[in-house]
Amino acid sequence: MQDRFIKQISQLPADLAAELVPMLNRHFSGHFDPQQVAQLMAASGLSKSELMFHLLQIAKQLSLAPISQFHVGAIAEGNRGDLYMGANLELQGRALCHSVHAEQHAISHAWLNGETGIKDIWINATPCGHCRQFINEIEGGAQVNIHLPNTAVKTLAEYLPNAFGPADLGVAAPLMQKQQHTLYCDDQSDPLIIEALDHASLSYAPYSANHSAVVLELYDGQTYSGRYAENAAFNPSMMPMQMALANLVRHNHGFDEIKRAVLLESSAGALSLIDVSSDALQAISAVPLEHIVAEAI
Ligand SMILES: [Zn+2]
Repeated sequence: MQDRFIKQISQLPADLAAELVPMLNRHFSGHFDPQQVAQLMAASGLSKSELMFHLLQIAKQLSLAPISQFHVGAIAEGNRGDLYMGANLELQGRALCHSVHAEQHAISHAWLNGETGIKDIWINATPCGHCRQFINEIEGGAQVNIHLPNTAVKTLAEYLPNAFGPADLGVAAPLMQKQQHTLYCDDQSDPLIIEALDHASLSYAPYSANHSAVVLELYDGQTYSGRYAENAAFNPSMMPMQMALANLVRHNHGFDEIKRAVLLESSAGALSLIDVSSDALQAISAVPLEHIVAEAI
C-alpha cells in the first residue's frame, strides 16, 4: 500500500480496510472499476452511500495543498459505474488562479479515461461557486447528483439555480461530449508531440478555439497528459498544465521526476496558454516548456 494512505486506512472499518489495502498498491491512481466497488461493498457490508463517504477519506489524500492546508477529496461516478477520485492541488508560491479544485480534478480524471458524462459526485466539503460553474459545463451537468456528508442529495440545478452555461453562448456540444478536432503537426517522430496532438484534438475549447494539451514525461519514460477544458464563465476553465500536474500527483509521482514538458496549441486559437503554462511549470520544475503550434484543419 502507498504510504500516503496509511493513516486514513487505520481509521476505516476493519472489513473495508482489509479489502481496500491490496487495491491501494503502487499502481493505484484513484480509480475503482465497478467490480472493485461491488467487492468493497460485499466485504464491508456497507451501503453504496456509506462506502463512498469512507472512500472520500482516501480521495483527500491525493491532495497537495501547501497554501491552504485544506484537503478536499471528490469522487465522480462515470456512466458505467467506475469511480474517479480527485483532490485539490495548489502550487507553492504561485497565484491562486493556478489551483485545481477537487471536483475539477475528479471530473477531468473521468474525462481523460474516456467517460462522456457523470451521474453523481461525492465531495467532503460543499462545492464552491467555481466548482458549481465547472460542473455546469459538462454534458447533463444540471442533473448531476451532489452528495455531501450529513446533507440530503441535491442536483446541481438546486445548488446553481438560474445558471449561466454553454447553451447561453450558443455551444451545443458541452464538456465531456465526444468531440474530435483535427490538428496537424509536421513532426511525427516525437512520441510526446503525437500524444499531445491526440489530447489536443479531444480538448474542449468552444470559446477560444485554442484546442490544446500538455504532456509531461518523467525520467522513467511514463507520460501524464492534460487537456484544455474551457468554461462559459471563462475563469473556472481548467488549464491543460494544471490537469497534467494533477494527473501526475494522483499517480503518486513527484514534480522532481519531470524530464520534459510539452504544450501543444492549435494555430486557430484566439489566445495562447504559453505564459500561464510556463508560470505554473516554473513553480515546480526547472524544466523548460516546449511549445508546439499545430495547424488546425
Ligand atoms: Zn471548488
